[in-house]
Amino acid sequence: MKIAINKAHFPVTVLGPGRRIGLWLQGCSIHCPGCVSQDTWHTDPGREMTVARLLSWCKKASSNAPDGITISGGEPFDQPQALAALLDALIYWRQHSGLDFDILCYSGYPLARLEKRHARLLAKLDALIPEPYVDTLALTHLWRGSANQRLITLSARGAERYAPYLDAPADIFGKRIQMQVDGERLWSIGIPARGDMAELERLAAERGLRFAQVSWRQ
Ligand code: SF4
Repeated sequence: MKIAINKAHFPVTVLGPGRRIGLWLQGCSIHCPGCVSQDTWHTDPGREMTVARLLSWCKKASSNAPDGITISGGEPFDQPQALAALLDALIYWRQHSGLDFDILCYSGYPLARLEKRHARLLAKLDALIPEPYVDTLALTHLWRGSANQRLITLSARGAERYAPYLDAPADIFGKRIQMQVDGERLWSIGIPARGDMAELERLAAERGLRFAQVSWRQ
């Protein structure tokens, strides 16, 4: 089974508890106004890889010891069969390695729609942050982009691990963004506040740097 991936990173420390593997899937049909990840919107067969290869990268990058996996995008539920294969592979790894990492997934679809159409996928997750990003609603809570988004726990592991964070304020850890340099590309990982990316461009311009391409506008 193949899955379209935008990027992957370890360790991610701003999208869930602990040192996590972050997997960003390619392709999103929702197109929330104000989305900062517009580079993930288009479907791109050139970004497909096998789930087996992705799992192998996860094991190597995390030295077989992630605290959690965060799956984001793009819209993970726009690739339901690939997402199922990925989740099955991750759960098999967890069961056969003695690890206890949790799996958190983001979605821009409403919870009711996911429960109706993708109950079998939800059963494989420990936690979920659903609902579209709404640019006119403030960033209020940890790991969430707008005030309409809730953190839902879906397993005993998820309930235990995420209990302290269900209503935690956005800045409880004082850090919402981490940066990754990849050749000439700079990835920002995490949940920016309104205006953060414009401020980043302004600060870069002050130092003579201009971004040739950005993910927060087309
Ligand atoms: S915020 Fe998420 S669901 Fe909304 S357009 Fe961006 S990638 Fe898609």
